[in-house]
Parts: sequence; C-alpha cells; structure tokens
Amino acid sequence: MEASATNNKAGSVPVTVAHGDGIGPEIMAVTLDVLREAGARLAIETIEIGEKVYLRGQSAGIEPASWESLRRTKLFLKAPITTPQGGGFKSLNVTVRKTLGLFANVRPCTAYAPFVKTKHPTMDVVVVRENEEDLYAGIEYRQSQEVVHAIKLVTRPGSERIIRYAFEYARAYGRKKVTCFVKDNIMKLADGLFHNLFREIARDYPEIKTDSMIIDIGAARLADTPEWFDVVVMQNLYGDILSDVAAQIAGSVGLGASANIGAHVAMFEAIHGSAPMIAGQNVANPSGILQSAVLLLLHIGQNDVAETIQNAWLTTIEDGVHTPDIATEGRTREKVGTKEFGRAVVARLGRKPKELKAVNYAGGSAKLDMGRVLHVSERPEEKKALVGIDVYLHSTSRNSGALGTALTSRTAGLAVGLQLITNRGVKVFPDGQPETFCSDTVRCRFVAEKGKVLARTDVIALLTVLDKAGFDFVKTEQLYEFDGKPGYSMGQGQ
Ligand code: NAD
Repeated sequence: MEASATNNKAGSVPVTVAHGDGIGPEIMAVTLDVLREAGARLAIETIEIGEKVYLRGQSAGIEPASWESLRRTKLFLKAPITTPQGGGFKSLNVTVRKTLGLFANVRPCTAYAPFVKTKHPTMDVVVVRENEEDLYAGIEYRQSQEVVHAIKLVTRPGSERIIRYAFEYARAYGRKKVTCFVKDNIMKLADGLFHNLFREIARDYPEIKTDSMIIDIGAARLADTPEWFDVVVMQNLYGDILSDVAAQIAGSVGLGASANIGAHVAMFEAIHGSAPMIAGQNVANPSGILQSAVLLLLHIGQNDVAETIQNAWLTTIEDGVHTPDIATEGRTREKVGTKEFGRAVVARLGRKPKELKAVNYAGGSAKLDMGRVLHVSERPEEKKALVGIDVYLHSTSRNSGALGTALTSRTAGLAVGLQLITNRGVKVFPDGQPETFCSDTVRCRFVAEKGKVLARTDVIALLTVLDKAGFDFVKTEQLYEFDGKPGYSMGQGQ
C-alpha cells in the first residue's frame, strides 16, 4: 500500500484508491489529475486489487492488508478489474460489497443529448438497487437429479433501509418522485414485504410523489419512456438488470458511474469493466470513473469541488471534445485520447456548460441523512404459531395419486395430516391434472387440524415415520402463522 496526496493538507479526507486492470490505470490516472487540479481535498492511499492479486493466490483478488486501508478510510474509489477466467476466483465486487455491507447501489443514468447519442434526450433517472439480499444471497441447493432451489432472501430491515435510502436520496438531491418496482402479484410474501414497506415509508416523505409498478410493465415503461421516472428503487436482481438497461438507453454505458453505499464504507466505480481489448492504447473514455469520483465528492460533502468538476466535464462534452466511443459526426469537434480528454476537462475547470444543464451542488443539496436510513423501526412482536410442515421428497414415481394415498395411510394418527402434494409448485394431489409436467421432487404439505398449534416434536415424529417407511426426504420447511396470518404461500391450484 502506498500513500500519496491530492492537495494533501489539513482537513484532507483519506480515500483508498485502486488502479485496477486493463484500462483501469489509464482512466484512474486522468481522474486523479482532474481531482488534484480541481482542488479536491483528498489524501490518497493506493492499494492493489485484481488480476495480479488473484494470480498471486488470493482467491478474492484483494490482499488482507488492503482491508485495513478500506476500514480506515471508509472510502473506496475503484477502477475496473479483470477477473481471470476459471480457477475458482471469487468476484471481488461481491466480496467487497458483502464484507463491507454496501447495501445500496446507486446509479444515476442521465442523457447528454444532443452531444451523446440517445433515443431519450431528457432522461435523468437514478436507479437505487438493494445490493446484498434477494437471489444474490447465494443460497442454492440441489435436491435430486432434476431439481435445484435458489432462495430469494428478503429481510424487513434490509428492505427498509434501501427504501429509506431511496427517499433520503430523493430529498437530499431535490428529486421529486420515487417509484418502486416489484412482482408481488406472484411473490406475495417476498415482494409483498418490500411493497408494503415502500407504502409505509412513503408516508414519512409527503413532499415526494410515489408510484409502484409490477416489474415487467415497469421495465417496459422505463425502456420506452424513461422520462416518466425520477428515482426508482428495487430489489437486487431486478436492479442489476434494469440499471444496465437504464444506463444503456441513456446512451452512456461508457460514462456511467455508480456508488455502493454502506453504513460505514462507500465504494465508487464506473459501471463498465476493464476493457482489456483497448487497454494501453490511450483511447478509453475516463468519464465513468471521473463521474464516480464526483459522486464520492458529493458523498463526503465536497460539493464545491464536485460541482466544479461536473460543470467542466459537461462543458468538455458540449464543446465536442470526445473519446472515440462517444464520437459522432456533426457533434464531435475534436476526437481525443484518454489523456487529452483529461487535459480538456482540466482546461475547463471554472466554466459552466451553455446548452447542457449546469449542475448546482454547492447551493442546493442537503446532506443525505444516514441516521434515518439506518434506523430500524420497532414493531410489536407478532405471535408465531407452528401449524404445519412441508416435506420435500425425492421421488421418481410420477404417480402422485399413489404417493398421496401411501403418505396419508403411513402418517395416520400423527398430529399432522397430508393436505396436498405439489410438483414444481403446482398441486398434483389430491385431484391432480394429467397435463401437469412433473419433475423428480415433490413437496408434501402436512398440516395440523385448524386451530391447533404443533410442537417441534411433532415435526420430528413425522420425519421419523417417513424415514421408517423409506421416503427420501431432501428438505423440510416449517409452516408458521404470524398473528393468525399464514407465513407461507398456497400451492398453485390449491
Ligand atoms: P467491458 O465493460 O470491459 O467492455 C465492454 C465493451 O465496452 C468493450 O467493447 C469495451 O471496449 C467497451 N468499453 C468499456 N469501457 C470503456 C471505456 N471506458 N471507454 C471506451 N470503451 C469502453 O466488459 P467486458 O468486456 O464484459 O469485461 C471485461 C473485463 O472486465 C472482464 O474481466 C470482466 O470480468 C471485467 N469487469 C469488471 C467490472 C468491475 O471491475 N467493476 C465490471 C464489469 C466487468
């Protein structure tokens, strides 16, 4: 680790910087030059991450000592890295995000028409994506020859803080509307929780308009009419996909920046990768990482410097000084390399764009209130009652009728009785349909008599009976009611 300075004086804010792989070192060098020339008050610590570290045998692509720097500075400006193919290398981004609890991924997607080509010239959307939960919790199981389960993990505090972050972001940056994308018509519990919290939290921000959409129509509208949207908040997988769509249709994947925000640490990076094919040729566009540095400056309250850089950058784009990736006939006056683009931005520090909208960060924005974001609201404890158990069986017999009859007779006299069997979520017993396509795992739902509460020993008794009868149970899931409301979904067709 090396320490260097960008205007390193008293009051400088320590920042960990990684130059990354491929085009990373070229675009980071330009960014650090612009930061220094603009008067950013930063004390920079350099760490090495990425390909060389992976190949030295660190499977996560980061040295243990680098964590110390990140924990000390709590700020990370990261250039893209190359993950070597094969060989069990872990994604550095996922490791950093998870280890440091960077729960919010924030991606502003802005059009710079007519200077950067786009079909949506007035687009200015910020995608706020939950960054840790959902299918990205990485909980997967193979149960049989044919079936794999991946768990969509959603927590109340995790959902609450990303939704609050979206509203606090809107408030701090003068945004007018927050839209929530969910799929709660299908995932009534997992997405239903997110949607209910969105409605509840919205009440604390009466000055901000709100809207909710089912993700499929929401995605279609975002791609078709992005100017309808302002801030959009969603769970991890939806956000992963739609933040790329939004960046692409803004016309600016090469310009896109992102912030990954946690309770203690924040990481800022371009949305593109290390582009190894163009590395070392002085043709890469440094704008994505430069825009990320602007987000970092805003995060630490150096709004004056952020504004100076952003307005100089907008002026450069407007003056038609473009790297090859965004060069267009009629709009580009000077096609330049990476370094020359950086020098053009430095030369315009202090200027404001005339046609593109100049930013005004120094005057307007309040500081985002992280205290409110991280506050977990107290709720009365709900009464939890065990009312049944789902037992998953690996079963190659496709005769659900016979299986249902056998299970019913084998479990007679227990505190639970067989209610139904589903295959791939669809009811196949009782009264299954011959057309239903079946795999080799079934879910057998055993429930207590209405109004009766089970003990955990009833679960053990059931499994003991099934084991003795030779049923190959591969997974169980307990069924609870909370204040009398089922905490599990019905079988499809039930
Ligand atoms: P990429 O973003 O590196 O490149 C995609 C295309 O965009 C290429 O044609 C590239 O030349 C171009 N491009 C990207 N950035 C550019 C820039 N600043 N200026 C001009 N053109 C630019 O994606 P990829 O090719 O899928 O991945 C390459 C490597 O980057 C892989 O090893 C991948 O794992 C890694 N990657 C890293 C990150 C990260 O560190 N955050 C993110 C994505 C991909």
